[in-house]
Amino acid sequence: MNIILEYIGRHFIPLFLLLTASVFAIFCLGLFLRERRRTRQAELSVWGERGFYQSFSANKQEFFLLIQKSDLRILYISPNFQGMTGMDAELVRADIEALKNMVSPKTAREIVKQLKEWDRVQELKLEFDYRIVGQQELAHGHAVIHPEGKNDCYLVIFGDITEDYQARSAMKAELKQAYQESQAKTDFLSKMSHEIRTPMNGILGMLSLAKVHVKDPEQTNYYLDRAKSLSQFLLTLINDILDMSRIESGKMELEKAVFDLFAVAEKLDSMFRSTTEAKNLQWDVQMQDFDVCRVVGDELRMTQVIINFISNAVKFTPAGGAVTVTFRQMHKIDGNLHLMIRVRDTGKGIKSDFISRIFRPFEQEDASTAHHYGGSGLGMAIADNIVKLMNGQIIVESEEGKGTEFVVYISLPIAEGDQTVPESWKDVRPVEDAGDRKKAIEEFTLDGVHILLAEDNDVNAEIAMEIMEMEGAILERACDGLEAVRMFAESPVKGYDAILMDIQMPNMTGWEAAAEIRKLTRPDADIPIFAMSANAFVEDKRRSIEVGMNGHISKPVDYDEVRQRLGEALLK
Ligand code: ADP
Repeated sequence: MNIILEYIGRHFIPLFLLLTASVFAIFCLGLFLRERRRTRQAELSVWGERGFYQSFSANKQEFFLLIQKSDLRILYISPNFQGMTGMDAELVRADIEALKNMVSPKTAREIVKQLKEWDRVQELKLEFDYRIVGQQELAHGHAVIHPEGKNDCYLVIFGDITEDYQARSAMKAELKQAYQESQAKTDFLSKMSHEIRTPMNGILGMLSLAKVHVKDPEQTNYYLDRAKSLSQFLLTLINDILDMSRIESGKMELEKAVFDLFAVAEKLDSMFRSTTEAKNLQWDVQMQDFDVCRVVGDELRMTQVIINFISNAVKFTPAGGAVTVTFRQMHKIDGNLHLMIRVRDTGKGIKSDFISRIFRPFEQEDASTAHHYGGSGLGMAIADNIVKLMNGQIIVESEEGKGTEFVVYISLPIAEGDQTVPESWKDVRPVEDAGDRKKAIEEFTLDGVHILLAEDNDVNAEIAMEIMEMEGAILERACDGLEAVRMFAESPVKGYDAILMDIQMPNMTGWEAAAEIRKLTRPDADIPIFAMSANAFVEDKRRSIEVGMNGHISKPVDYDEVRQRLGEALLK
């Protein structure tokens, strides 16, 4: 020890100088390294700015970062970072973790996971939603991390691909919809085929059985009755299918005509009175709070919706229950009547999970529904679509075992002119009932009525002639429109009492023929003409009236309707 101290004492000055020089050298080395790092950063920055950035700067939708591999420090952020993200670039430069604020915590976790799994050899591509500071909508971005960035850096190129992403998403959605629509059409057709073939099979079977039992009138009658009721079911089904396909192709049109809500209530009341009585159901139709009664709209379609609700209510309510229909005037705004129509029953109710599906075509609560109650599951879908076309809404409330209520809210323009509201819709009836005319129409027969029938189809003509002739009518047949016009023109004045006119006929359609007849200058050119046609859409009926016909009877023909319509026209 003494030797060391002695040595230091002897060589103090050179040793001191050596120590100072070493400290100074270390200090200088530190300064040098710091300076070198700064220069390197500056170099990188310049490289970034002049090199890569120039190639990206024109593209405002991309920015890039240089991240030092060793400590993940951000060495460079291209200047449009702030503009694209709304984030403070300095904040991110100070702490790379700040980038996480761009995305949701869940997305951040997913990105971290992908980074952990990254082999750092291949490029890593990421796609994610992110939020631009100050904006509500989420943007969509993608980032590519290149492992071979210059100077031991990762190069991260970030692009905003929101527009692309939205276009891609829209295309995917369209594709999915197209697929679903095509699938729905296929399902619809196969369902249709099944639904039509089932009653058809029944009808043909019943007719075969009737033929076999022809010598036993009672049995024959039984089979024919069954065939008839199956035919009626098939007809309803076909009408529903046609309605549904017109709705789906956007072709369903609504009428705009003045009608009386009290008359609708009266019609519904008389339509369901006997059925409800027979089923021992309490039945009531109420009109509440009305100070107007005449509105403009599609009476037929509105009634179709209510009839569907009532038919279901009657069908699904056991004897002893009640069905109540309520029309209520809610309010009047800007010449429109806001109307509530409610059909309430105390029937079996609907399971809550089915309520959300009730408006889908062909949906029934379960397989046993069709078995026990029949029906096709189309009525609700049609009702829903009609009410939507009217800009209205349907609300369903139901409790299993307690009952169901369907409430329709629609608004209809109030008709101009007289709005004398009856005390109750029941007041509407006696006035009509008292009329002798109604009685006379009810008692009207075709006996002795001279009818010109224009019909190109032999089977239809044969049926029409035989049925009406059995009642005493005298029929002459024209095979097309041209012949009908000629036969009428050549007949003596008042030779015919009425014309029943098919529409689709060769040479001249029923509409053209009717128009020609109306143009004739003879005193009976205003003869009652009724279209009797399988064209049964609203626009067909409208066209028949427009060409001057008195009315439109749809095929298959209900001969009670023919009798009544002719009665109305002939008993003036
Ligand atoms: P359908 O009556 O011809 O089966 P709908 O479309 O009119 O077809 O009705 C669909 C289904 O909704 C019915 O089969 C039935 O399961 C259910 N539903 C409709 N109305 C009622 C009601 N008032 N009470 C109970 N269930 C109903």
